[in-house]
Amino acid sequence: MRCPACKHSETSVLESRVAPQADAIRRRRVCDACSHRFTTYERVELQLPAVVKKDGQRQPFLLDKLLRGIFKAVHRRPVAPDAVYEFGRQLELRLAESTDREVASSALGDAAMQFLRQQDLMAYVRFASIYKEFPDINALLDELQVLAAGSPPAAEALAGFAEPTELAELTELTESLQRAKSEEPAPTGQVSP
Ligand SMILES: [Zn+2]
Repeated sequence: MRCPACKHSETSVLESRVAPQADAIRRRRVCDACSHRFTTYERVELQLPAVVKKDGQRQPFLLDKLLRGIFKAVHRRPVAPDAVYEFGRQLELRLAESTDREVASSALGDAAMQFLRQQDLMAYVRFASIYKEFPDINALLDELQVLAAGSPPAAEALAGFAEPTELAELTELTESLQRAKSEEPAPTGQVSP
């Protein structure tokens, strides 16, 4: 990639983002010679499978929509935006490489939850509760209780999550969910990412 200012051939990528329509990668670059900053859009020619929702409806895969949900979950959490974009890029590539013509929306939600679980437990719980990928709120509460009880799998999940403030936040979230549950007469319907 040549610098548009001085034509030097070496430039560095500062930041990569998937463009809103998910059909291009936007990169911020800086020239190694003159430090001129510029942006490139690299088109990705991807044949992506259709997303099949739980009710059987098919729709095009919109990476941006999934990433918006993830960014909501990682708000003010120690998850680097680049890690989220990289997850999106990898997911998109995996889908493009797949020979399947369709993918279940729940599989996309699962992939996002797996990613978040590795990144940050709180973000994972938020995402799970936003998208109600758990069958109902009781299942989510069960999961939180297991996590909070410090069973062996939870101990592993909680590694790097032992800050008292974060445990307090988790407890607070559990309590607010319990309050929400007692106010809701019945669990609401499934919402797909
Ligand atoms: Zn330059």
